[in-house]
Amino acid sequence: MKDLSRPEDRVLLSARAAVVRDLQACGVADAGSVSIVESAVADRRWWLEEWPEGAPYLAGQIAQDVQDALLPAIGRWPLCPLHEDDAAPHELRISPDLGSDPRWSCEEYEVSLAPLGALEGWVSPVH
Ligand SMILES: [Zn+2]
Repeated sequence: MKDLSRPEDRVLLSARAAVVRDLQACGVADAGSVSIVESAVADRRWWLEEWPEGAPYLAGQIAQDVQDALLPAIGRWPLCPLHEDDAAPHELRISPDLGSDPRWSCEEYEVSLAPLGALEGWVSPVH
C-alpha cells in the first residue's frame, strides 16, 4: 500500500479531488475525464518533486493541464456560465496562471467566479 502521508501525496490528492469536484459540478465526471485527471496528476508529480516550493500552485497547474487535455475530448471546460448563451461561448480560466488560491474566472468580464474545487452552484450540470 502506498504511503499517502507524504506531503507531496497529500497535495496531489487534494488537487485531484478539487478538479474532479468541478468536473462533477459540470456533469462531465465520467471514466474518461477522470482518467485525464489521473494522468495530469501523475505527470505533475515530477514537477512537484523538482520544485517542492511549487506545492501551493499545483492544483491550478493540474486544472489547466486537464483543461488542455479535455479540449479535444469533450471541448471547452468549464464553460463560462456568464456567457453560455453567447454565439461563441468560452471556458473559464484559472487565475492567476501560476499562483496559490487558484480561482475560475471569466476573462471577458474579468471577474472571478469561484475557487478551484467550488464550481458547484455556478455551472449547470447539463451540456
Ligand atoms: Zn465569460
